[in-house]
Amino acid sequence: MMNTRSIRFRLTVWYAALLAGLLALFGITLYFGLADYLERSLKNSLEKQAQQVAVTYLADIGQTGEDYVIEEIKEHYAPEINSRFVRVTRGDNSVLYASGIPEDKSFDPTDLPAPTIGDDKPQTREVHLPQDKGELLLYTMPFTANDGNRFVVETGAPFDAIESVLRGLLLTFAFGLPVMIALSIGGGYFVMRSALEPVDALTRSAERITSRNLGERLPVVETGDELERLSIALNSMVARLDTAFTHIRRFSADASHELRTPLTVLRGELEELAQQPNLHEESRERIGSALEETERLSKIVESLLVISRLDAGEARMERKRFDLAELTGATVEQMRLLAEDKDILLACEADGGVEVEGDSARLKQVIVNLLDNAIKYTAPGGRVEVKVARNGDSAMLEVKDSGVGIPGEALPHIFERFYRVDKARSRAVGGTGLGLAIVKSICAAHGGEVTVESQEGRGSVFRVKLPVAA
Ligand code: ADP
Repeated sequence: MMNTRSIRFRLTVWYAALLAGLLALFGITLYFGLADYLERSLKNSLEKQAQQVAVTYLADIGQTGEDYVIEEIKEHYAPEINSRFVRVTRGDNSVLYASGIPEDKSFDPTDLPAPTIGDDKPQTREVHLPQDKGELLLYTMPFTANDGNRFVVETGAPFDAIESVLRGLLLTFAFGLPVMIALSIGGGYFVMRSALEPVDALTRSAERITSRNLGERLPVVETGDELERLSIALNSMVARLDTAFTHIRRFSADASHELRTPLTVLRGELEELAQQPNLHEESRERIGSALEETERLSKIVESLLVISRLDAGEARMERKRFDLAELTGATVEQMRLLAEDKDILLACEADGGVEVEGDSARLKQVIVNLLDNAIKYTAPGGRVEVKVARNGDSAMLEVKDSGVGIPGEALPHIFERFYRVDKARSRAVGGTGLGLAIVKSICAAHGGEVTVESQEGRGSVFRVKLPVAA
């Protein structure tokens, strides 16, 4: 399917149309110019011939006699062989000499009417012979011999000689023009494609740039024209974005860091206040709830700090080999109490030997967050299963629950910061809306990914895929 709005198509069409127009103009000019030239040169040669006949032979006819003149004309001009017409008529309209049908039969002058010369001037005209016997360009010249006798000399040539040349030219054009245009369209399309190739390359590399690799730059096409300017402009835009992103990341990292200390102080103060012996019951309750909120705030700030440090690339990541199955088994055991409290059956299937490379503390955080969610969003009596397995070059961690599930429209968003399907519920179970965002950031930092599958009311499966250690 051809894209008719593309630059390539439009340029090719324009340029083919232009070429066609120019070629047509050239053809028309050539045709008429050639027609004019051929006609004039035929006329010239007819005139010359008539004059030669008159001056060379007719002038002295009084001395040489008529038979001599006839013989000379036949011998010198051989009109029948050369497809020419020659006729000499005496003053009394009787014919002295007239050539016959030429050998190539291009015309038949037998019925040509006698010359009509009104005034005594030579003239050229086109004659259509009756009964389709051809067309002649005819030159008629009155002449007076030295002895005073008057003659009319006529020379003629078939017109279709010119016509056949012109027809040949037309044919050449009729066949040549489409071929030339087709060739130029093909060539133009090809040239255009290679000319636009750098744009394609630019587009492809621009598509690769995301907020994660803003440090990368597009290849600069060194063409010294609009394309080079475009690639430079795009690059400086990426650079500006990079700076802006860095600022934002720094800001969130700094902000969460700065919030930590006053929060710790606040918590300390509140705790101390709660210890006071002579406290009113109502005040104690209020301080308790203020403490709870401070707790929550601390959790959010801690999580934000983790994410923004991961984002800013400043989180110091350990790179060590360890067994993901072992880590998972241990973590599950640590969280078993939490599940039992809620009367949830926690099963773990993790046979050793799934070695990965990375920061085990952070990957433990991934397991904790996923397990925590699974327990949080599963009603008592439910089931949570954890599985670790090796799948080719990947280590797979799977956390499956029989909980509330996630509605389809929410699925694409649950890894976003602060996104919660049900704010009130998340708050009630102590969620911050940052747990999965952290999971995603940590997985990405390890060259892995996390995916989810869920059915509302049936449960969810979270799968983490990490490259196994080499
Ligand atoms: P939160 O702190 O609210 O749990 P998360 O980032 O961990 O934040 O999760 C985001 C949202 O995704 C949650 O609010 C919840 O609605 C949904 N969610 C996460 N895990 C599960 C799960 N196992 N079952 C059902 N919903 C889940």
